[in-house]
Amino acid sequence: MAVPRRRGAESFVAESPSQLTSYLSPVSRTHKIANFVGIVGPLVGLVVAMALLWGSYFHPHDVVLLVVGYLLTGVGITVGYHRLFTHRAFATKKWVRYTFAILGSMAVEGPILAWVADHRKHHQFSDQHGDPHSPHLMEGEGFFAALKNLFHAHVGWLFVAEGRAEIQKYVPDLLAERGLRIIHKLFGVWLAISLIVPGLIGYFLVGNWRGALTGVLWGGAIRIFLLHHVTFSINSICHFWGRRNFKSADESRNVWLLSLISFGESWHNNHHAFPTSAFHGMKRLEAAMDPGGWVITGLEKLGLAWKVVRIPRERQASKSLAA
Ligand SMILES: [Zn+2]
Ligand SMILES: [Zn+2]
Repeated sequence: MAVPRRRGAESFVAESPSQLTSYLSPVSRTHKIANFVGIVGPLVGLVVAMALLWGSYFHPHDVVLLVVGYLLTGVGITVGYHRLFTHRAFATKKWVRYTFAILGSMAVEGPILAWVADHRKHHQFSDQHGDPHSPHLMEGEGFFAALKNLFHAHVGWLFVAEGRAEIQKYVPDLLAERGLRIIHKLFGVWLAISLIVPGLIGYFLVGNWRGALTGVLWGGAIRIFLLHHVTFSINSICHFWGRRNFKSADESRNVWLLSLISFGESWHNNHHAFPTSAFHGMKRLEAAMDPGGWVITGLEKLGLAWKVVRIPRERQASKSLAA
């Protein structure tokens, strides 16, 4: 079946997914500039705000709340929501599953079943019509069209019903698990806890309501904001900016710069080539910058993870783009 496809000013009709792989061309400079302005700009603003507020509304313990919260909920997303629940990259005990499901919920990227359904649909239609968050499907040319595409892939897709996945269709396996249904339904509770806990810690450390306020602000709101944008950058940046090591029927790319802060998620071309792999970093250096992979290796060593999916070298070679 012919698949209509737009990419910037060009339009392209592929006869098959494999034909798409031969079409992948460098991304325009306009796209790169739009990307930089839209994503790096607000983060630079935040760093400036942190410097200005240091000592008044931003303290050393707020940094700890921010970093610890970011690590826990980030691992909840990459190891839990993504590698464990979406792709079944490893198996683990029930209490570990539920811990990851709750930590992922506290990242406030949506209830577990909805997140997994959207992400499975993203893999099914990667950068083709039906993909909930591709930066390549909206029409138009030039800087503003590029910005619009990026905005859609980054956060805009969350505000439109179009393209979102049906839970019954995409996650029947998880829907069958009572514990996960309950965790899904209690999403609002996990959200509240993820704000209240840093607030309480701030209150007890400082001894007044201002401590609670900065705790909620840095350990809650800003921690959520940062992880949101890192996760969303995988959907936007990593689908048109970076290197491709493997053939895949989409625009996925590896972006080393985001690897550590995204827990290894930005080895995104590797991931689209081998979605079930527990490890997104494939080469030695990539694996050294894949914190999600480290966590799974650690769980395996503790006897808490098994059936860990590894991609043999021959399979990697069969999809390699290296000459
Ligand atoms: Zn992707
Ligand atoms: Zn995935």
